[in-house]
Amino acid sequence: MFEFTLEASSSAARSGRLALPHGTIETPCFMPVGTQGTVRALSPNDLRMAGATLVLANTYHLHVRPGEDVVAQLGGLHRFMAWDRPLLTDSGGFQVFSLAGFRRVSDDGVEFQSHLDGARRFLTPERATEIQWTLGADVAMAFDHVIPGVADEKTARDALERTLQWLERCAKRHQELRRSGGQADGAAVTERQSACPPVRQTLWPILQGGTHLTLRGEGLRRILEMGSWSGLAMGGLSVGEPKPAMYEMLATLEPRLPPALPRYLMGVGFPADLVAAVERGMDLFDCVAPTRNGRNGTAFTPDGPVNIRNAAYREDARPLDETCDCEACTTFSRGYLRHLFQAEELLGLRLLSLHNVRYLIRLAGEMRGAIRDGSFAGWADSWRHRYLQPDLA
Ligand SMILES: [Zn+2]
Repeated sequence: MFEFTLEASSSAARSGRLALPHGTIETPCFMPVGTQGTVRALSPNDLRMAGATLVLANTYHLHVRPGEDVVAQLGGLHRFMAWDRPLLTDSGGFQVFSLAGFRRVSDDGVEFQSHLDGARRFLTPERATEIQWTLGADVAMAFDHVIPGVADEKTARDALERTLQWLERCAKRHQELRRSGGQADGAAVTERQSACPPVRQTLWPILQGGTHLTLRGEGLRRILEMGSWSGLAMGGLSVGEPKPAMYEMLATLEPRLPPALPRYLMGVGFPADLVAAVERGMDLFDCVAPTRNGRNGTAFTPDGPVNIRNAAYREDARPLDETCDCEACTTFSRGYLRHLFQAEELLGLRLLSLHNVRYLIRLAGEMRGAIRDGSFAGWADSWRHRYLQPDLA
């Protein structure tokens, strides 16, 4: 379990398979974000239709509402959200550090204010690990200290040191939970629980270090020395730093990454970034971009983004994306989709979200195919040539 098999590579770009308790996923893989235990406007059926194999849920949000104990009472996160394929939970670090409100960081953890009721809460590496264990996702993430992408070296060094210390504590707590048979409080396994196999979960470290190459390199070395992991996440990128800085960072780090570990680039999911990151050896991605843009009326297409509210589409009988097999594209015209947005109908939000998720999953699939047949470099050039054209549609 948690084994990653590399199937093909084409320079740095790779395709592979990752075996997880709730299924095997193929990489490169885009995972839609289910912030509150739901991918906004999409049902699990929609996600299956879109071809999603792995979904991300937010630990912070599920912790403050409804609370991980409620989720556990209702059968764990998979059953709670009726998603039987693999799930990954983030650690809550990103939310704790990015949501507005009071926040106090110490080496022990972070005291913060709930965005819901303003109540003071305290999250430590151990708590973040316990919450994720209780939720029961296939992959849990280590609790990290997230800083803005443009942070200076001293701030980035400080956050890296803290993240590494916290990683040790997360790993220790995760091991204890695995040994204790699944109870977050370490108590004996009850009769009811012993009837089901314990939840199997793996924990992935997050590499921080901002845009400072020496810090990233050092962080990577220390993470790999700390233990044997089943995956590795790149954090703190795509958080406000210039795009070329992110690409350069990935290209520099790639040769130092162990080929046998899947590499998860957190928070990246605009089409051109996805292609650029796969070119630089990344395997897994998550982003709210497809659903957030979909709700704003922006659709990804092979010819670049389209804003469906544009008056030019009023009498347009063509599908949104003639290459796409999603419900929005096989059933409705651009003119009808535009009408839904003009009339503020909920169906429009669902259809464009569905299309955008499907678009990114198809994009990942196309890249897999091109890597496998050795045509990735040429594929990427022609993809970019078409996508980055000004909107001619
Ligand atoms: Zn579509």
